[in-house]
Amino acid sequence: MIQKIEKYLEKPIHECTKESIYYALLNACKETLKEKGTHEGKKKVYYISAEFLIGKLLSNNLINLGVYDKVAAYLTENGFTMSEIEEMEPEPSLGNGGLGRLAACFLDSIATLGLAGDGIGLNYHLGLFKQVFENKMQKETKNTWIESDSWLTKGTASYLVPYGNFTLKSTLYDIDVAGYNTKCNRLHLFDIDMTDDSIVKEGIHFPKKEIEKNLTLFLYPDDSDRDGQLLRIYQQYFMVSNAAQYILDEAVQKGSNLHDLSDYAVIQINDTHPSLIIPELIRLLGEKGIGFDEACTIVTKVCAYTNHTILAEALEKWHISYLEEVVPHLIPIIRRLDERIKASYPQESIAIIDKNDTVHMAHMDIHYGFSINGVAALHTDILKNSTLKDFYEIYPDKFNNKTNGITFRRWLLHCNHPLASYLESLIGCDFKQNPDALEKLLNYKTEKEVKAKILEIKKAAKINCRDFVKENTGITIDENSIYDIQIKRLHEYKRQQMNALFIIHTYLSIKAGKKPETPVTFLFGAKAAPAYVIAKDIIHLLLCLAEIINADPDVSPYMKLVMIENYNVTAAEKLIPACDISEQISLASKEASGTGNMKFMLNGAVTLGTMDGANVEICELVGKDNIYIFGKSSEEVIHLYDCGGYNSRHLYENDSHIKACVDFIISDQLLAIGSHEALYRLHNELVNKDWFMTLLDFNSYVRAKEQAFKDYKNQDAWAEKMIVNIGKAGYFSSDRTIGDYNRDIWKLK
Ligand SMILES: *Cc1c(COP(=O)(O)O)cnc(C)c1O
Repeated sequence: MIQKIEKYLEKPIHECTKESIYYALLNACKETLKEKGTHEGKKKVYYISAEFLIGKLLSNNLINLGVYDKVAAYLTENGFTMSEIEEMEPEPSLGNGGLGRLAACFLDSIATLGLAGDGIGLNYHLGLFKQVFENKMQKETKNTWIESDSWLTKGTASYLVPYGNFTLKSTLYDIDVAGYNTKCNRLHLFDIDMTDDSIVKEGIHFPKKEIEKNLTLFLYPDDSDRDGQLLRIYQQYFMVSNAAQYILDEAVQKGSNLHDLSDYAVIQINDTHPSLIIPELIRLLGEKGIGFDEACTIVTKVCAYTNHTILAEALEKWHISYLEEVVPHLIPIIRRLDERIKASYPQESIAIIDKNDTVHMAHMDIHYGFSINGVAALHTDILKNSTLKDFYEIYPDKFNNKTNGITFRRWLLHCNHPLASYLESLIGCDFKQNPDALEKLLNYKTEKEVKAKILEIKKAAKINCRDFVKENTGITIDENSIYDIQIKRLHEYKRQQMNALFIIHTYLSIKAGKKPETPVTFLFGAKAAPAYVIAKDIIHLLLCLAEIINADPDVSPYMKLVMIENYNVTAAEKLIPACDISEQISLASKEASGTGNMKFMLNGAVTLGTMDGANVEICELVGKDNIYIFGKSSEEVIHLYDCGGYNSRHLYENDSHIKACVDFIISDQLLAIGSHEALYRLHNELVNKDWFMTLLDFNSYVRAKEQAFKDYKNQDAWAEKMIVNIGKAGYFSSDRTIGDYNRDIWKLK
């Protein structure tokens, strides 16, 4: 490896810039990945996803290639550090949140388990927007991440993708995905050659109708108007048409006659963005002479669907006239698919095309896929018993659960070297490939020395994080304070607003003379969807609160509030190892799984959360003493929705403490520095709507959180909680998840 690196360096290393060293490492890695070769097998899984939130790749690749320590030592010998070289790498901007990060963790685990499996998606040039704060508001700017030398390698495949009025030709870019100490798989990212970022003017605005120039500019371009929605369909169809042509080509090359496609391919549809692959495959099989009914049978043996949400607004549906405009050739197929279902099952609730002529993508996946899975035990139960009940009654055998996981290579070995190597010295290196071996740590949970060491590692991570926060925000935080962290997309169901109300509560208590015994630092990171007004208002509230709190000499010794700009994987890797309390406070039933919760646990944070998503499984594993649970249960919440029994104004008017916290949002102090429009709108939302029941769980949240703060003072007992959390995290390795997918759904090898 070192020889390869030196080959790519143009000069002796000590004369090189960090940038040129980064490119040398990149190219040496790419060459090594090529030499490793790819996993092959008769049958292959294709993981199709609109997002792959892969994070920076350099360190991860070095780790998976087994040369990280060697290369790091080589850099140190020559006066450089790995972390300063890593900083030269731009983070690929191909995802938004948990769903995209899951896809990335899965690719790592599929390769590590030695399965033949590729990812397929799009090569967005400007990705998801980059977040900057201006006047304490989120502003979106373009996120240019592709450089002339990058992890992308131009592939050879190219296809024609037909639309109503024109045809586009694709170009393929590949990224090699190394398994841990094994061969590679590939992430295939389709693109067009004519993409033109110069059409992007102000912020992230661009002409929406110039499909030939804008198709692969942005992930999730603005869809608040018709043209924006059509563009989303143009993108989705481009992704799936390329995917379908690629998959059929590969199968044929391997000897398939297409009638036996399911012996060669299984397609995992990650959420509904790739759902059009079903009619597209039927269309392509038809072109090859396979009749409609047989094509339906083939496709139903090949496609499997993963559901990621029960939020009604996130279950995609398109009016048929929109599809008619973009992909008219699919309309007769979609209509026939719908008629077949209507012939056997007349219920409106499970129709593909409803009586308003709207096409329900998830319904197509369920009828014409062989598997549908939820992503945590509770989520799958809710799908079966409420959201998708009518489908479950027809197809009980299609439904299954696959609790999400995270790759330990990135979320432990890479982001927390000191912890990983300490664990290795204590329990051996087994856990890197067999995550259940982490349980051996539990034998040490009462040992003084081990507890001291775990606390020492946490402290060092908090110091690193302090420096990162200083660089990112200019704010100085205290590594001796409790780090209470909520980092995830901004959404009302995730309830950053409830955390903000707690911060107001703490601020008001300090002002009233009640000083916390241990200082606390509240850290946030979150992007809001550009058109999601209330989410942006919550960001504004947090930034206003930060300005007031951090500048107040009475308050800031006891609490600080930090909102990191442009939260992404790189930021997550810095924040997670440093966390004491992991905020997982979604309204029960709304967070399908969460994966942030797993990353925190693995790094020794204690969860403060509701009985939602995978928190339920975390709670079962660590036991009630090692997690802080609060709030209403999913059953209670679902019942409240069903009977319309929640009234936030009632709570606001009858609980003076709640009222005081909520009213602080429109206090003179806040209005003096914030936007009246935004703050009043948010206040009104909480008092008169509060769709995600913030006020309902608020008191319970305050109690649990204050208990956690109190318990934190007993560092000895806290260290034991940390050890139990780490020791029990093995279940949440994505290697376990992928093993389950393969055993129950893909059945490769
Ligand atoms: C893990 C991860 C997420 C998902 O976090 P949740 O808390 O599960 O919503 C989102 N963004 C990034 C950058 C992540 O690494």
